[in-house]
Amino acid sequence: MKNIVFIAPPGAGKGTLSEILEKKYNMLHISTGDMLREEVQKQTSLGTSIKESMEAGLLISDEIITSILKNKLQSEDIGNGFILDGYPRSIKQTKLLDNMLKELNLSIDHVIYIDMDYELVKKRILGRLTCPKCNRGYNKYSIDMKPKQDNICDDCNETLIGRSDDNEETLKIRFNEYINNISPIIAYYEKLNILKRIDNKGSINDTFKQVESVIK
Ligand code: AMP
Repeated sequence: MKNIVFIAPPGAGKGTLSEILEKKYNMLHISTGDMLREEVQKQTSLGTSIKESMEAGLLISDEIITSILKNKLQSEDIGNGFILDGYPRSIKQTKLLDNMLKELNLSIDHVIYIDMDYELVKKRILGRLTCPKCNRGYNKYSIDMKPKQDNICDDCNETLIGRSDDNEETLKIRFNEYINNISPIIAYYEKLNILKRIDNKGSINDTFKQVESVIK
């Protein structure tokens, strides 16, 4: 069993790489962003209270996000390992995660850090599309990730949608938040000797090969 954390800016491909890992190795993909979007979509009281902040690209409180994550880790089968995508996002969350994992008798094997600059992130984010039915991710500007037919899911024929927070104005806020928080997180995991750096300048397949070489 391997437990993995992805640390990367928005749009770096964490979600796509996690989906591939989930399918290939039957690991549990835990995306805090997806869990929150689900709450918003279902219009739960939590969803209604966080909708505005999410659309503005602001972080949701540590309390909310940490309890959602803990619930997930306690209620799902993680026998084949889990992939954390979108958490931790600050040094405070890094320490909260450490405490939570100790409590649950779990640990992290690898922290995979994908470094990317703003211009590349922007291209990825503004081309990003998702299938509202099966949640498969696409990118209209990427040769290996664009749908076969414009705007239509290859698997379910559904019309693809963009995320409401995937616009340039919100991206700037999310990217700045990432830059302001990332250094201590990297230093923390470097000290524990579990940080691995990979790049995502090529195709998603090239990046996935790098991920596999880390976890194998
Ligand atoms: P993502 O899908 O990871 O880009 O996350 C989308 C949005 O969900 C973020 O812009 C935040 O509003 C919220 N979010 C996701 N993960 C976290 C987290 N670990 N801490 C606080 N807010 C989060």
